[in-house]
Formats: sequence, C-alpha cells, structure tokens
Amino acid sequence: MGQSFNLQGILQSFRVLASPRLMVPNIVVRDIRDINFEQLHKAGIIAIAFDKDNCLTKPYGLELHPPFTDAWKRCRDIYKDQVVIVSNSAGTPDDKDNQQAQAIEQTLQVNVLRHQEKKPSGGQELLKHFSGIKAGRIAFVGDRALTDVVFGNNYGMLTILTRDVVTEEGDNPMALRIRRMEHKVLAFLDRMDVKAKPHPIPIDIHAVVLQSPPAPESKEEAKADLAAEDTRKKEAKESEEREAKHERAKRASVRGGAPTSATSATTTTHQETSQANTNSNIGGGTGGFSTQVEPQILSHEEGEGWERTVTQVPGEEPVHSIKLAGHNKGIPGRR
Ligand SMILES: [Mg+2]
Repeated sequence: MGQSFNLQGILQSFRVLASPRLMVPNIVVRDIRDINFEQLHKAGIIAIAFDKDNCLTKPYGLELHPPFTDAWKRCRDIYKDQVVIVSNSAGTPDDKDNQQAQAIEQTLQVNVLRHQEKKPSGGQELLKHFSGIKAGRIAFVGDRALTDVVFGNNYGMLTILTRDVVTEEGDNPMALRIRRMEHKVLAFLDRMDVKAKPHPIPIDIHAVVLQSPPAPESKEEAKADLAAEDTRKKEAKESEEREAKHERAKRASVRGGAPTSATSATTTTHQETSQANTNSNIGGGTGGFSTQVEPQILSHEEGEGWERTVTQVPGEEPVHSIKLAGHNKGIPGRR
C-alpha cells in the first residue's frame, strides 16, 4: 500500500519557509536505539508517539526492524499504554478497513492511531488519543523533518528525529528525495545556528541520548569530499585517455603516412612550401632514428601543365600546393 497525495503536507511546507525552525527537531538520534526511554520518562515526557516507516519498520513494512527489538521492548516497558504509532499510511483513509493498522498492532504490540489528516496536520487527533496529557509532555519520534518534526513542533511536543533510516529500498521515491533534501537543509540550518523552539520541559540531552550521530556538517562535508575526489579521479582518467588517444593517432600517422610512391614529390612540395620546420627530426641522418611526421596527401589532381596537391601534417592545417609546368617550385596556399 502506498500513500496518497499529501496536500496538507505541501501547504505546511510553505509555513516552514516562513519559519524554518519548525523543521528543526529538539533532539537528533541515529535511530530509536539511541533513546534512553527511562531518562526521557523521568524528565517528564510521559507519552510517546512514533512514525512507522523508516523509523520502526522498513518502508510499508508490517514488522519491527529486527535490530530495534531490545530498544522497542524497553520503550514499551516504560511507557506501557502511552505509546502509539502515527503513520501516514497505516490507520489513514489509505489503509483499507485499517487492515495494515491491525497487522502492525499485532506485530509491534502497540496501538496505531486511526486518523483522517496526515502529518504534519492532524495533531488534535493524537492529543485526543492521549486525553488529559499536555502536548509538552508528549514526544514525537520520526525520520522526516517536514512531516514528523513539523507535526510535533506545530503542536508543542518534544521532537526527536531519527537520522539513520531503516532502508531506502522500497521507499516512496518522492519521500526518499525529499528526506535527503531535508537532511541538507537541516545541516544548513545547523550551520546558520537556527535552533528548535525551546521546549517547556528542560531536557538533559546527554541523559536521554545514548549516542549522538556525527554533526550533520561533518557528514555533509565528508560526502562533499568524496564527491570532489570522485570528480578529480574522473577528470584525471579522461585526461589520460585523451593523451593516449592523441599519442595513438600520432603513431598511426607516422606508420601510415603518405605512400612512398607519392611521397617524394609531395614531400618536396611540402618542404618547398616552408612547412618543413613543422617536422621534428631527432637523431636524423644516416642510420639515425627519424620521428619525422610525414604529411598525408589529402588530394592530388593533375591537368595539362599543372598539378594540385593538398597535404596535411596531423594536428596542422592542410597545405594546398599548385605546381605549374616550367616552374620548379610549387605555389603554396592554404585552404
Ligand atoms: Mg517515516
């Protein structure tokens, strides 16, 4: 089952443009294993709600991500009935007969909120579920800044962002792209020192977070460094290939230059047209190894009393020579 179009989510995004701190969580963890539920409860957060996809299960999954088993048990032991899942798929009108919600309640052993409005809207439905508990004493945990965090912040809950997703495999392609963009924006806001609105209950982050993820900017910088290194390697390889190709072409030209039968006349003409200085002779002379690059004949025409030859040394412009009867020297010209 997928998710239908979330118009309210898009509209709420415009609010975030006006107030970016709405998408900044109070706490960031790698995943739910890094939440010290006991300390969180002691601090005064007496109810807790979770997003499902990529926070507790794989996208659209019905079972808890196995590595989270111990953490999930600790959470349920401490919060007991004051735990609920608020998903934008299960328990919404997209979930036919709440089949998915019921299946998750069986496997995860907690309630799944039935709600009409999708996050980041619909906070009243959650507050109604936790009747009598003030929003400031509820934590909302999720992997998405523009849905889960904005949802919690909109209603004054303590917001906890899980930054390492369960898996991107099978995720909604749009959600996947938006989440990556959210992480970049959060890193930027962090650099700009944009903080979440202070929560009414003072929370000692060091007590409730077992292990913090690396600072977002270091992760972003590490990615940028890797990308720059990839680009450098690619450019070096392309440059090497270009040089090798050029070298091969040069060698082929030397090997397969103008045919011997035509070379004498053409070479003479070429030399006579003062193009000889373009040739490189190293160790020439009798017995020497010549790397002279012979010009190639591009065309040769003969008429009564005239010859017209076009030659070219690889890498240079073609030379156009006309030899008239009675003249020893060709008349050079360029195309
Ligand atoms: Mg999610």
